[in-house]
Amino acid sequence: MRNTKPLTALFVMVVSCVLCVAQPRVLIVTAHPDDESGCAATVYKITHELGGTADLAVITNGEAGYKYSTLANSIYGTELTNEEVGRKELPHIRKKELMAGGSWIGITNYFFFDQLDTYYTLDADTVLSMVWDVAWVKERLSKIIRDGNYDFVFTMVPTEETHGHHKAAGIIALQTVQALANKNVPVPVVLGMAGGRIDSTKPYTQYRGVAVTARDENAPIFEVDLLKKFGYNNKLDYRIIVNWLIAEHKSQGTMQTYMNIGTKENFIFFAMNGRNRIREAQKLFQALSESTP
Ligand SMILES: [Zn+2]
Repeated sequence: MRNTKPLTALFVMVVSCVLCVAQPRVLIVTAHPDDESGCAATVYKITHELGGTADLAVITNGEAGYKYSTLANSIYGTELTNEEVGRKELPHIRKKELMAGGSWIGITNYFFFDQLDTYYTLDADTVLSMVWDVAWVKERLSKIIRDGNYDFVFTMVPTEETHGHHKAAGIIALQTVQALANKNVPVPVVLGMAGGRIDSTKPYTQYRGVAVTARDENAPIFEVDLLKKFGYNNKLDYRIIVNWLIAEHKSQGTMQTYMNIGTKENFIFFAMNGRNRIREAQKLFQALSESTP
């Protein structure tokens, strides 16, 4: 009798590979409540159209956002724009707003790291060396990634012009995944949330001096088209989802003034993933381009 074991093993591999694309597991790693707006439609499509799951790890509670809370003063009945009041009240308010927004895009688990949101800066080095407890953040994030069996991590791209906290969150996520890979732990593919518009005249390469942040410049930019039409008379598109999410962030007054400009959610592929894993990202975004609500 023929030995069918190799065929059975092949069948299981094929089925599980199809499933891993069909039901992707994603961990989002950001700096502030509301940064997840940069992947809102993509995450919605993953959880609602592909049957996947998404969790969110957020490093600060965003209390430095008190300056933008003017419209929320009357909603919450307190003077959030007063720095002392805002820094005390915003951590719990912004957690609630984050989870309200996350409910529309299907986020399951929230991991709050409760690190200080000091002030706006472009400097990631000070944030990493003096403000956040980086060793503890990495240790906890490492455990979350090991336990979560994620296929992908979406994190912030440490571009020169972005907030130092965004840079630091991206660097921490990449270094944590790299450290696990170095121990031969199976790791997710890390993709960088690159916003709605990519400036082709100033393409991102890497954060100065930190090799793990390098983009694979031969990999494609992956994208979800927010303008893809669906529904009655093709009148609906994915900007609606993004607007649902940002509308929950009542204490942050400015997002609606610029978020609607974007027509895509772009993602870059980091070189540390290894070129052999580009295919996994291609399969995900191919599935996303074909799926509809
Ligand atoms: Zn932010």
